Amino acid sequence: MNMSKCKYCGREIVWITSRAERPLPCDPHPRYFVRRSKGAQKLVILSGEVVTGEFLEDVFMADGDREEIGRVAHFASCPGFKAGRSNPDRPRAV
Ligand SMILES: [Zn+2]
Repeated sequence: MNMSKCKYCGREIVWITSRAERPLPCDPHPRYFVRRSKGAQKLVILSGEVVTGEFLEDVFMADGDREEIGRVAHFASCPGFKAGRSNPDRPRAV
């Protein structure tokens, strides 16, 4: 997996190829989460799909919920990303 450091915050990121064949910067550590259409987190799952949800520890599981594993999309968690670029879909590695 392609590791690098975010040029805005200096944290380590990994690049995951999205379904649209674009590289997406993500936090390196996978998290358990539950999908929620209005979830606060943006996560990239292994297929490259970007989904919204909440971390497992933040939700009460309901019938039909299942835990999934994804990586937090770095453009959503990075403190510098929004300030640094107007188009967060097209970030650059350092
Ligand atoms: Zn960053």
